[in-house]
Amino acid sequence: MSDCIFCKIVDGKIPAQKVYEDEDILAFNDINPARPVHVLLIPKKHITSLATATAGDTPVLGKMLAKANEIASAQGSADGFRVIINTGRVGQQEVPHLHIHIVGGPDPVGPMLKRL
Ligand code: AMP
Ligand code: ZN
Repeated sequence: MSDCIFCKIVDGKIPAQKVYEDEDILAFNDINPARPVHVLLIPKKHITSLATATAGDTPVLGKMLAKANEIASAQGSADGFRVIINTGRVGQQEVPHLHIHIVGGPDPVGPMLKRL
């Protein structure tokens, strides 16, 4: 999608600190990291969010999850990490191109969500 910031990163039109890339997926450092390790992992194909993903997207979504541990380890979070996929309005997704936040160490990342 031409006006999508993450599609522009895929196309090389805006820069990013890439940490992993193959024919289907791309990982790069979050520009505003919340933890020492904070990588965004995206499908190269534009998928707006988990709310719009289809059954045909299952292979690339599986590949993303299967790569997360390798990426986290390589970036300095070898003893676990957290993945977050903000989705839509309620999930407070800011960038409408599906992405997995991989956040991690070296120290534990903290509580998941504040309890109600
Ligand atoms: P979300 O709220 O889940 O949509 O998260 C969007 C994330 O994208 C935020 O953590 C931003 O810091 C990050 N972000 C926005 N623009 C860029 C960029 N050009 N390069 C890297 N990360 C970005
Ligand atoms: Zn996009």
